[in-house]
Amino acid sequence: MSSVFYKDGSTPIRVGKIVCVGRNYPEHAKEMHVELPDEPVLFLKPSSALLRDGGRIVIPPFSSNLHHEVELVVLIGRGGKGIRRVHALTHVGGYGVGLDMTLRDVQAEAKRKGLPWVVAKGFDTSAPVSAFAPAASVPDPHDLRLALKVNGQVRQQSSTSRMLFRIDELVSYISERFTLEEGDLIFTGTPEGVGRVVSGDVLEASAESVASLTVSVA
Ligand code: MG
Repeated sequence: MSSVFYKDGSTPIRVGKIVCVGRNYPEHAKEMHVELPDEPVLFLKPSSALLRDGGRIVIPPFSSNLHHEVELVVLIGRGGKGIRRVHALTHVGGYGVGLDMTLRDVQAEAKRKGLPWVVAKGFDTSAPVSAFAPAASVPDPHDLRLALKVNGQVRQQSSTSRMLFRIDELVSYISERFTLEEGDLIFTGTPEGVGRVVSGDVLEASAESVASLTVSVA
């Protein structure tokens, strides 16, 4: 699929591009032994990577180390280029929760060789996302508890208040580099606690009561 839905509506929203932010939580940068960035670290996933609630993540044959990264996901409701920070949140249509599924072995190899992360991050089923809560129903997107359980056990738990670059800054920064269009998604980075999942695991992600998502590993 290449579309997402609002919680209260049935009209599919076509997804254009998926922009992801790396190293946006200090505790995650620390566990990965990487420096805190001076400006947002960006990468892209193709829209063909999307997976809906209830779907199954497929580990490709060229990897044996699939990691979970739970993230708040921003759905762009109104596009723009060079969006000013002060207006940035008015371009957000909704908030959801997603998993930036990562082939950690493929990524480590790419890092070692100085190559792009695109295969490690953009493989089919690497972007499970929930339905989206309309932005107007979320009083403060920077005060949401993010959590991920694997087989009922908590693996990641943090708050979006811990983000290094906040949503308005990200929307503004990204829109200076890529024109944002209605239906684009922004994965805003993962907190600490990333780890491996294997075939048969069930992943339950949530952004407080705003959004929830359950997927399994095939
Ligand atoms: Mg991530």
